[in-house]
Amino acid sequence: DTSHGPILYLEDVTVSFDGFRALNKLSLSIDTGELRCVIGPNGAGKTTMMDVITGKTKLDTGSAFLGQSTDLTRLSEPEIAMSGVGRKFQKPTVFEQHPVWENLELAMRLPHEDSRGWLASLRARLGRDARERIESTLTLLHLESEAYRLAGELSHGQKQRLEIGMLLMQRPQLLLLDEPAAGMTDDETMQLAELLNRLRGSCSMMVVEHDMEFVAALAGETGRVTVMAEGSVLAEGTLDTVKRNETVIESYLGR
Ligand code: ADP
Repeated sequence: DTSHGPILYLEDVTVSFDGFRALNKLSLSIDTGELRCVIGPNGAGKTTMMDVITGKTKLDTGSAFLGQSTDLTRLSEPEIAMSGVGRKFQKPTVFEQHPVWENLELAMRLPHEDSRGWLASLRARLGRDARERIESTLTLLHLESEAYRLAGELSHGQKQRLEIGMLLMQRPQLLLLDEPAAGMTDDETMQLAELLNRLRGSCSMMVVEHDMEFVAALAGETGRVTVMAEGSVLAEGTLDTVKRNETVIESYLGR
C-alpha cells in the first residue's frame, strides 16, 4: 500500500571522504511497509548510505527524511534511533549471558532507560503486555523452544533472528539490515527469508545483501530491488529486470 507515502526518502545525497565521493547524488525512496533489497559491488556506497540514514555520517548535500516530516539531517544518531530507525550490523550482537527471553525483555527497554536501569529492573515482575509481546515475538522468530536457553548457546542463524527480534521489540518504523544472511547455512538463510517475509507490511525494511538466492527469496517476482554502484542508484526494478540490465551486468563483471 503506497498511499502512506515513503517511509524513507533520500534525494541527491552526496558524501565525500577527503574529496572521494562515497555517495554521489544518491536518490532512493522506500514505501511504508516495503521490504527493499539493495545490492551492488563492494565500494558502491551501501554502508555509507546506511550510515547517513542512522546519522553516523553526516551528508554534505541532499535531503534525507523519515516519513513525511522527520528531517534526518537535523537529528543526532541517538535521536534517529529514538525516531524508530533500527539497524542490524552483520555480526549478531545479543546478550550472550542472558536467556533468550530476557534478551527480548532488555531490548524492549533499551532506548528508554539507562544501562544500570535495565539491569536493576530486569527481574522485576513483567507486566502482562510485556510478557505477551515477548511470547508472540518468540513465536514469530521460531525460538519458542529456546526461550530459557542462554543466547550465547544459540546457533548463528538463531542469534541473527533473535537480534532482529530485539530490534522489533523497539517497534521500529524502518529496519536496516546489513548482510543478515552472511555466514548462514542454506536452511538458516531460508528461515531468515521466511521471517522477513512475514514482517513485510508491518515493518519497513532495507536489506543490503550479496547472497542472490536470499535476495530472490525476499524480492519474489514483484519486489523492487535497488542496484547501487559508485555512490548512486544504477538500476531499480524487479530482480528479473535489474539482472537483465546491461549496465548492471557491466558493473558486476567489470569493464
Ligand atoms: P559498500 O558498503 O557498498 O561496500 P561503502 O559505503 O563501505 O561501500 O564504501 C564506499 C566507498 O567509500 C569505498 O570506496 C570506501 O573505501 C569509501 N569509504 C567509506 N567510508 C570511508 C571513510 N570513513 N573514510 C574514507 N573512505 C571511506
